[in-house]
Parts: sequence; structure tokens; C-alpha cells
Amino acid sequence: MALRRDPYVLVVGGSDSSGGAGLVRDIETISSLDVRTCVAVTALTVQTHNAVSEVHPLQAQLVADQMRAALQANQVAAVKIGMLATAEIVAAVAAVLRENPQALAVLDPLLAATSGQALLEVGAVAVMKQDLMPLCCIVTPNLIELALLAGSALAVDEDGALRQGQRLLTAGPQALLIKGGHASGPRSTDILVRPNQLPMRFDAPRLARKMRGTGCALASAIAACLATGGSTEMAVRRAKLFVLEKLRQTPG
Ligand code: PLP
Repeated sequence: MALRRDPYVLVVGGSDSSGGAGLVRDIETISSLDVRTCVAVTALTVQTHNAVSEVHPLQAQLVADQMRAALQANQVAAVKIGMLATAEIVAAVAAVLRENPQALAVLDPLLAATSGQALLEVGAVAVMKQDLMPLCCIVTPNLIELALLAGSALAVDEDGALRQGQRLLTAGPQALLIKGGHASGPRSTDILVRPNQLPMRFDAPRLARKMRGTGCALASAIAACLATGGSTEMAVRRAKLFVLEKLRQTPG
């Protein structure tokens, strides 16, 4: 596929004062893959690496205005969506995506931080499924997010996760990447699930490292690869390798 000229990824998400996750991690990841970024901030958070002490969502209109300005200023080939905080912001992001169908949307359906702090209000989950997911070319839930979005208990095995994935696909995204990072075992396996296609596994060794923002980095790397014309499989493969390499560089 031909390379698009000078593509940008528009990063839509929350700031994390610790720099471990959120917009800092997204921009760092996408820049290191030589793709340019522009930004729409959804929320300010006050965080250390261990705890989130404050969350301040922005007004939804302000998020939409930032997105429209970023899309007007640059050739945005992909949009990476992270923390959305409120139902109003979810709806506003969906509205701007509907106006810009050329931009490939990658959604990390972030519900809570590892520390447990909610990063999306409960009432926003339905809006995310109805309004936003049908516009996404890939959604990247971990097993906990998958269960919540599919409306069932945490899957106990891979078959259960695949069944939940098939159910969630009916919300309308073109693909789901089910992240196995929260499972146990020597390998960390992510599974790409698409309508009418066999599931595709992406496998890596499980490293005993603690790095925050791995979900942000994976979805951002997928968006960067899609922006430069890669297929979904290629983007997932490269993104998984990117995160593995980052984990290898992190002290154990
Ligand atoms: N804060 C923000 C703004 C985020 O975007 C994320 C993850 O995407 C987190 C916190 C959670 O990061 P972690 O679960 O690695 O602590």
C-alpha cells in the first residue's frame, strides 16, 4: 500500500502528571515510530505512579473543538482514543469522528487505572458501545474491560474470552484486539478478532517487568502503523514487538 504523505495521529485522551501513561506515553510512542502527533485533551489527572488523586474532565465541547482544530490543521490519518472520562465526551468524540470518516480510529476502552481509580464514568459505557465503537477500526480491551463491555463475568479461559469478543463485535467495530496481559502463564497472547474471520494470535514471552502505560503504548503504536498505511495485522504485530522491546528495556 502506498505511504500517505506526512500523516499525523490525533491523540485524544487524558494527561497523567506522572508521565507513566496517558498523553505523554502516547506522544512518546508515536514520535518514536517517526509519526507526527496532534492532541485533544479530555481530562487532567493528578497522579503518581501508584495512585490517581484527582480527575478533572474537560467540557465535551472543548474536546470536540480541539479535535476539529487538530483535524483542520493537519493531515490526520489515524485517531488514537484513550481516557474519555464522561458520557458527554464519548458522544462528542463520536460526533467528530462521524464528520471525518477518513481518519482510522483506534480505541483503547479505558475504564480504570491499574490502581483502581475509575477513568470513565459508569454511564458512559453504553454510549461508548452504541456511538463510538461502530466508528472504530480496532478496539483494544484487556480481559477485565472485555468482560465489562460484554456484560459478563471475567472469562476463565480463552474460549470464554473469544465468546465475549464475538458478542462485543456486534457493537460494530471492525476488529477487537483482546489483550491477554492480565492472564497468567509464560506467554502473553493477544487475539485479533474480526467478523467472519478466524481469530489471529499474537504471542510474546511474559516478562516480569512493571511498566505503566503498556495499553496506551500498544494502541498508540497500532495507530502510528495504521497511519502510515499498514494493515491491521501488520500494525498489531509491530505494536506488540514495540511494547515487548520497551518492556525489555525496563528494569525488572
Ligand atoms: N491515566 C491516564 C490519563 C491514562 O490514559 C491511563 C491509561 O491509559 C492511566 C492513567 C492508567 O495507566 P495505568 O493503568 O498503567 O496506571
